[in-house]
Amino acid sequence: MKKDFIYNMSLVNGSVYRNGDFSLEDIYISDQKISKIVPSGKILPCKKIVDCSNKLILPGFIDPHVHINLDLGEFKSSDNYESASKAAAFGGITTFIDFLEPINTVKEFDEKLQKKHKEAELSFIDYSFHTTVGNFKDDVEKLVSKSLKSGIPSIKLFTTYSESNRRCSYEKIREFIKNSGLTGSLILVHAENDEIIVNSKVEDNTAVYENSRPKEAEIEEIEKLAQMVAEIKGRIYIVHVTCGSSLDLLKEKYSELLQHNIFIESCPQYFYLNKEVYKTEDGNLFLLAPPLRSKEEQEKLKKNIVTINTIGTDHAPFTKEEKLRYTKPSQVPKGLGSLEYSFTLMYNLFGESIIPKYTINPALIHNLFPRKGIIQEGSDADLVIFDPERELIIDSGHSKCDYSPYDDLKIIGVVESTILRGNFIVEERKFVGSKLGQYIKRY
Ligand SMILES: [Zn+2]
Repeated sequence: MKKDFIYNMSLVNGSVYRNGDFSLEDIYISDQKISKIVPSGKILPCKKIVDCSNKLILPGFIDPHVHINLDLGEFKSSDNYESASKAAAFGGITTFIDFLEPINTVKEFDEKLQKKHKEAELSFIDYSFHTTVGNFKDDVEKLVSKSLKSGIPSIKLFTTYSESNRRCSYEKIREFIKNSGLTGSLILVHAENDEIIVNSKVEDNTAVYENSRPKEAEIEEIEKLAQMVAEIKGRIYIVHVTCGSSLDLLKEKYSELLQHNIFIESCPQYFYLNKEVYKTEDGNLFLLAPPLRSKEEQEKLKKNIVTINTIGTDHAPFTKEEKLRYTKPSQVPKGLGSLEYSFTLMYNLFGESIIPKYTINPALIHNLFPRKGIIQEGSDADLVIFDPERELIIDSGHSKCDYSPYDDLKIIGVVESTILRGNFIVEERKFVGSKLGQYIKRY
């Protein structure tokens, strides 16, 4: 580097999160990258200096599970890329991974990918996609190879939703899992046992909604999948795990597969809300699949936090009017919004130990590392300036949805500024972003 080199920006005097700990260091940014990290106090030539005294500096967060422009026919989820990425930026998220619409044949892939690319042009933050299959009947190898070539190493499938033809057969699930062991792809599974759900015969009433997709459906299906992985190896990632009991089972019977062949994601809503809300007047506002569980399962989930690799939001909000348009849960669009408050919510429960589940873990599991998920020289300058003392009352925030499931909740710890590749997108709680979001290929 030349002697008269001038950095674009520096963040000085902050507590920088590195290698699982905090140290007082200054970060220098140039060309969208973290260019140099030096002990605090050693001033280098720089155009803009940002004082971060008493603040934490964290890697930009990664949300590996969001649904944007989710189309359910009569209902379309509230957020497009513009509003979703703005809400995400206020929550410190600098990269999120959305899902392509489900396909049943290989030839549908290109069209679904192009559609998402078009939608995502509005994004203020970086993004990537997961391929999704429904009742897939085609050549697994061909699809995975096509997906990999497009920078998508992850294929999501469902073990349920036979009624809408989205359930993937066990034969194909086996093929996908086997293939993942050979190609390094990752199979994302929505794990709920379809037979248990189809045969549950529960009244179509929100008060008993949880019984229509009971916890046994999740536990049984996760066991089935774990058994499959134990036999054929491969790599699966179980999305939105709701029950602590599911994790107890995995630890007891398949512990050697955890962290190697089986990865676990959960979501803030399963830690903060429980099924008692379904008995309230506004119960429909909390409908999602899989459902919220009992207080007891929630406590077990908290106890198992170390077994959980990543926190995704499964962001898919619908407005109050849409959630309350029909009374029967079968007619109500399922999904909640959590993007903007995801990290802060979980930070309030678990403190600093939650940071890796938003940064290095999703980066490693979803092939974004070392470009994302870590503060080190050479990585993208995706950074969060976090004030651990500041208080905030949750409201609907910057999502286009008119409520948050956590409305009026007081939390401590606020994302003050968010930087994407060296550019502020949120600066001291003010939005200053522009549509710089880039598609990140995950090879
Ligand atoms: Zn989802």
